[in-house]
Amino acid sequence: MKPALLLVAPIYAPTQARLESDYRVARWYDAPDRAALLAQAAPEVRVAVTSGGAGMKAELIGKLPRLELIACFGVGVDAIDLAAARARGIRVTNTPDVLTDDVADLALGLVLATVRRIVAADRYVREGRWLKGPMALTGRIKGTRLGVVGMGRIGQAIAQRAAAFGMDIAYHGPSAKPVPWRYEPDLLALARESGVLVVACPGGESTRRLIDRAVLDALGPAGILINIARGSVVDEDALVAALASGRLGGAGLDVFADEPRVPAALLALDNVVLQPHQGSATHATRGAMGQLVLDNVEAFFAGRPLPTPVT
Ligand code: NAP
Repeated sequence: MKPALLLVAPIYAPTQARLESDYRVARWYDAPDRAALLAQAAPEVRVAVTSGGAGMKAELIGKLPRLELIACFGVGVDAIDLAAARARGIRVTNTPDVLTDDVADLALGLVLATVRRIVAADRYVREGRWLKGPMALTGRIKGTRLGVVGMGRIGQAIAQRAAAFGMDIAYHGPSAKPVPWRYEPDLLALARESGVLVVACPGGESTRRLIDRAVLDALGPAGILINIARGSVVDEDALVAALASGRLGGAGLDVFADEPRVPAALLALDNVVLQPHQGSATHATRGAMGQLVLDNVEAFFAGRPLPTPVT
């Protein structure tokens, strides 16, 4: 008999189709009667598959006494209760590396779109305002100081791209990395000296509201914040207030505190570029992420080492 598996949230459709053909999948997210689903699945489910956004709460982990693996479709595991998993010896896998380039590309897209006001300029043309006169001049990419918060896989890919554009790069994080860019141990100092600050660190409790009013004020009226990490890393109320009052110059945001809900105030601002969490959302990358999920689940059932465990 095929092994049982709990699917906590929907994932990339072709990957989900493969899971549903290779395993007996109990779909938690759309079960009409979750208690009945658990009563049937819990005695045999050893693997749960979830998305980075949905994660897995301690409560659900607690209802699966035989759970041994949580395979996450996504690199960010901040929505999984890792402490609850660790306490039971449940292993967790994610999908690192394969999405790095696409997320970095989107980050650079947001840097270009905000500094050169590409989306605002598109509106300028569409609304016929060009017929009445030229658009205002914009900032320049080359020579602008880019501060990267979190010089990990994605942070480094962003820095490589920004370097090719002639940006001047520095970064902040818990420790200096063996990279060719300047380490700044003080986040406020990095924000003060940056024209653009890109957030690329993990979400979760340790980084909650790391980008607060003080950081936004240090970035200042000419500064731009780009967030492709997690909405939780930025104090969204402080961000909206800083943008609306002109204390912050602009923002490019792929992630939000309460996705897919975006504060109405942000929708009304011309100096903000918004994305519906699209960092890894290309066919190629979603396929590669799905393959990693399949590989981890298969390795688990075969008793082989997990390809991409979260350590
Ligand atoms: P990673 O390789 O683990 O890099 C994370 C980096 O953040 C590490 O260098 C880490 O430093 C640093 N960091 C940890 N705590 C920090 C703090 N308090 N302040 C500043 N830096 C800190 O992870 P990754 O693959 O680059 O992914 C980063 C995050 O991007 C993910 O966790 C995920 O939330 C987000 N993401 C978003 C999308 C999207 O669609 N928008 C897609 C993929 C990923 P140490 O190594 O010293 O701990």
